[in-house]
Amino acid sequence: MPKEMLQRWKVSDSADVYGVKDWGAGYFDVSDSGEVVITARHPEGPVTVNMMDIIAGINERGLSMPVLLRVENLLDSQITLLNESFRKTIRKLEYKGNYQGVFPIKVNQQEQVIKEISRFGDRYNHGLEAGSKAELIVALAVLNNTNSCLICNGYKDSEFIDLGLEATRMGYKVFFVMEMPGELELLIERSKALGIRPNIGVRLKLATKAGGHWSESGGDSSIFGLTATQLVEVVERLRAADMLDCLRLVHYHLGSQIPNIRDIRSAIRETCRFYADLALEGAPMGHIDLGGGLAVDYDGSKTNFVHSMNYSLDEYTADVIEVIMEVLDEKDIPHPTVITESGRATVAYSSVLLFDILDVNRSEATMEVETIPPDAHELLVSMREVLNTMTLKNVQECYNDAVYYRDEIRERFKWGQIGLRERALSENLFFAIMRRLTENLKKLRRVPAALEGLSEALYDVYYGNFSVFQSLPDAWAIDQVFPVMPLHRLDEEPKRKAIIADITCDSDGKLDRFADFHDLRRTLPLHDLKPDQEYYLGAFLVGAYQETLGDLHNLFGDTNIVGVRIKPEGGFDFVHELEGDSIADVVSYVEYDPKNLVRMFREKAEQAVRDGRISAQDRRRILSVYEAGMNGYTYFER
Ligand SMILES: *Cc1c(COP(=O)(O)O)cnc(C)c1O
Repeated sequence: MPKEMLQRWKVSDSADVYGVKDWGAGYFDVSDSGEVVITARHPEGPVTVNMMDIIAGINERGLSMPVLLRVENLLDSQITLLNESFRKTIRKLEYKGNYQGVFPIKVNQQEQVIKEISRFGDRYNHGLEAGSKAELIVALAVLNNTNSCLICNGYKDSEFIDLGLEATRMGYKVFFVMEMPGELELLIERSKALGIRPNIGVRLKLATKAGGHWSESGGDSSIFGLTATQLVEVVERLRAADMLDCLRLVHYHLGSQIPNIRDIRSAIRETCRFYADLALEGAPMGHIDLGGGLAVDYDGSKTNFVHSMNYSLDEYTADVIEVIMEVLDEKDIPHPTVITESGRATVAYSSVLLFDILDVNRSEATMEVETIPPDAHELLVSMREVLNTMTLKNVQECYNDAVYYRDEIRERFKWGQIGLRERALSENLFFAIMRRLTENLKKLRRVPAALEGLSEALYDVYYGNFSVFQSLPDAWAIDQVFPVMPLHRLDEEPKRKAIIADITCDSDGKLDRFADFHDLRRTLPLHDLKPDQEYYLGAFLVGAYQETLGDLHNLFGDTNIVGVRIKPEGGFDFVHELEGDSIADVVSYVEYDPKNLVRMFREKAEQAVRDGRISAQDRRRILSVYEAGMNGYTYFER
């Protein structure tokens, strides 16, 4: 076979490069034609749709990139998987209680998402968790199934408590979780006043700690939760108020994204000990709420790395049920209803940020460097010599020389001894030398230590039409790694090494850490831009936490949102569409009145007419540009 045939790039090579089979959880993959596809698992069988078809549909509807794509089927699937996994384990281990999950609203508060969760969760009595009054107000309106739990966490004032109590009267299954001892008095007082007996839970302050980003939010140093001493006081106080029969739940939340199953087991064991002893104190109990923490394998490595998890969903549910049975059976305590507050794992998969690439800054020579003008500065001549004399043996020396000449030339430029064109030539020479160096390094058996990171340091900058701060805030704030890959052209080899910059003017507005099996890499392989074709990328698994933590850095607002439903018979429907913020929207978030801005600018234009700088017709045109801008999208519009 000819050599080119053997080496031809295959779509499976792209799948490997981007690890899509590892993090895609069976939802995302690459088609034979080289495009990313989404698979929905319908009971009738799987249905696959091409993401480029969805993009075509978005373009036909005239929506600009960036777009947050929500695929409701994936949310449905995740709720199903979680509930079915618990059901299966419960049956297999002959556990006597059942499982009733809740979704913590803070993980994605968007109306469409919460409504879908309420709808898809209905058949499993999957409820909601509210961490504030506002979230309770949302939950009460959206939750239809009163057999589902409504867990109230967070510090509660009397308004919060009264609303929860009235909801209890209406038949909602509300639990008031005491985060601090101070809340209890108010709850006792309000329940007596309203004549309603509440379901009370206690949040535990566990000694167990978990590794990962949020290790400080669980464990001993946790700011929330009751100590053993405070629990004893709660029991005494409830007994005195004749309300011990209201104590029905223990709760803890170790933190989000717990990569190591050992920490999860350890926390459950400790919690069950509290549960058992509270039951022995005479409280009816009946519910054990394990909080969140169920992780998402963002890098697909299946390890205890912070962006991963060393357990499967089935292992998680099996461990939960096993440990509970182990501890409670020993004391003959009946099996409780198990509640988890899985947010991240429920919602992460269902959203993908779609964006286009606007431009590329390539780290390579774009000027001809073979010949140096005869009158060039001697430093440039010497720098050119480095290219001529490079062999496999002197790579380190060549590197040192190139850096030396580049820096000298920059210095002379500063002092006016070297001009703009010569400085430009030196930059190009530098890239040419670095490119040849990295080629040579590949041929060496042993790379000099100082040059190890060199090929990673030579990357292109791809400018993506999005804001990290608005759409991927955790990538900036806590170095969260999200899978990012091109949505098409996957039958071509991605030959460029790139980092992705956003369109804010902030030097932090970039993605330069990417998942690489078992590790992180600084660059992502991408394709050369084609002159008359858009290049679309997706940032995946962004459904959890990203949508409302985002901010208005540089006044880039909410992106357009499109929801799709993949149909059992094939194909997909657009089920909802939300226009992103206009400039008028974002300026009003920071206290400007758009009308006022227009008026102020009109006056300035009138003054320009008065001063003879522009004509009245100019003014009219300028004002219409200003007003069109005000009503436009905050991102780059084609
Ligand atoms: C944030 C939070 C959760 C959600 O955690 P995930 O790891 O996203 O599942 C659950 N419970 C409480 C109390 C929380 O604060």
